[in-house]
Amino acid sequence: MSVLPAPLNPPDRVLLGPGPSDVSSRILRALSAPTIGHLDPHYLELMDEVRSMLREVFRTENELTLAVSATGMAGMECIISNLLECGDEMIVCINGVFGGRMADMASRQGIVVHKLEAEWGRVFDLAQIEEAFKRHPGAKAIGIVHAETSTGAHQPMDGIGELAHRNGSLLIVDAVTSLGGVDVRIDDWGVDACYSATQKCLSCPPGLAPVTFSKRAEEKMAGRTSKCVSWYLDVSMVRDYWGSARSYHHTAPINMTYALREALLIILEEGLDVRFARHERNHRALRAGLEAMGVSYIPQHSLTTLNCIGIPDGVDDVVARKHLLEQYGIEIGSGLGPFKGRAWRIGLMGESSSERNVMLVLSALESALTRQNVSFKEGVGPAAAQAVYGSRD
Ligand SMILES: *Cc1c(COP(=O)(O)O)cnc(C)c1O
Repeated sequence: MSVLPAPLNPPDRVLLGPGPSDVSSRILRALSAPTIGHLDPHYLELMDEVRSMLREVFRTENELTLAVSATGMAGMECIISNLLECGDEMIVCINGVFGGRMADMASRQGIVVHKLEAEWGRVFDLAQIEEAFKRHPGAKAIGIVHAETSTGAHQPMDGIGELAHRNGSLLIVDAVTSLGGVDVRIDDWGVDACYSATQKCLSCPPGLAPVTFSKRAEEKMAGRTSKCVSWYLDVSMVRDYWGSARSYHHTAPINMTYALREALLIILEEGLDVRFARHERNHRALRAGLEAMGVSYIPQHSLTTLNCIGIPDGVDDVVARKHLLEQYGIEIGSGLGPFKGRAWRIGLMGESSSERNVMLVLSALESALTRQNVSFKEGVGPAAAQAVYGSRD
């Protein structure tokens, strides 16, 4: 190369998209700590601490709880490929991008997928799920997305685990955009396998996928007649690396483990309930501000961590997001699939969920809309949000 690029100097950004979210300086410091060997006794202690803190955050007693060395999609792939075998039947609930990916992934592995579809932005009720089990009595598992990042829909979880177990099925849950921001109760809900990712509400850089498996899931895996189709994600080997055997399987991303450990510590220091209440308050303030401006929410039950809103009529999506990024350093997400060009997705996840960011994004949006000469209620958004912060409840 004749001219070398300049030294690394990424711009300052406020990450209010569908992930990654802002990473605190405490976690960045943890990332920059000296790398040690992945079989060093000190590192093994860190792995144990990560596992026990993950259990707290997942609200589970599951022994088999660890972090897969890759992003959230690998968490999904790890669970699907370990719990199900070629020829097994699975019901997949699809009301957005990520349910669709789960179905695609499972069918590539020879799993017989029965799709249960709902309109984008809507959630599933128990009657629909019960009906699906009646139609497919042989289903070995049902997969559902708790927090559908493509639509901002928050799936209610009560009763689904019971329904699955009564039908001899395991419950698989995607909690990528909920874990650490919205209550996730693995044991209370009867979830058999759940995956998440570090870069959403855990506020770490991307790179690890926390997963947890119930005893029922372990029994299903123990009864397999074929090997897991993925070598890298085969839990029967990965668990020996994270467990007492400590046998080498792959080289864990040491510094990412430091970062996840620090992120989990930050979460438990804040307290799960306090943290969820913070996400709730900032969501309510943002929502009050947006609705006062005349902007509406798309999903039936909105997540507090991801706000999916309709782009006001006449607004140029790309120009507005460019204005936010260039003038304010704010990243928000565009719409996916049927919402492309119609929706914006404003993430308030983990470190990004703050009063400062809510006030900032409302002001920036007002500025972006004003420049486009579209009619909206000017000057009322930030005041409506402020009113939520000013009230005591
Ligand atoms: C982001 C996301 C994923 C995928 O995670 P990656 O870390 O991007 O691989 C899966 N499911 C949901 C709901 C997500 O929001």
